[in-house]
Amino acid sequence: MHRSIHVIIGAISGLFFASKFYLIPLCLIMGSVGGYVPDFDLGFGHRKSLHNLFSVLVGTIGLYLLLNLFPLSLLHDDVWSLTLSFTAGWLLHIFCDSLTKRGVFVFWPFSNRAYGLRIFRSDSLASTATGFIIAFILLLAWLICSGALELLIKYL
Ligand SMILES: [Zn+2]
Repeated sequence: MHRSIHVIIGAISGLFFASKFYLIPLCLIMGSVGGYVPDFDLGFGHRKSLHNLFSVLVGTIGLYLLLNLFPLSLLHDDVWSLTLSFTAGWLLHIFCDSLTKRGVFVFWPFSNRAYGLRIFRSDSLASTATGFIIAFILLLAWLICSGALELLIKYL
């Protein structure tokens, strides 16, 4: 799956954690970063080093601690929203990669076995189409859950 699709899916997943209106852009950014980060392992143990639950846990705790150190007191009430946006983007990246033929080493370093549904190749049209479908479903779900769709329809 193309990296830009991971970023789009991550950004949309971040929306679910925007508990306040002003958090929407911040959660979009944190979710997209979370969707981008796993492929930093391209040069070292791709689909292993940053495509596993252990790295997600370490990344989540690390980001939570880092955001708590952030000098702006403005962020302190929103650390969980921002952290979980990031984590959701990362987890969805791993899920989407698990749909590809190669799978992901989701339990690495505790297991050296790749898991996944392994439906299509990562660079295939089916992979891209599935990514956009997942993004669309997530966006629609967020629009419905947040009440934004109702507002949109009301003002159209
Ligand atoms: Zn990946």
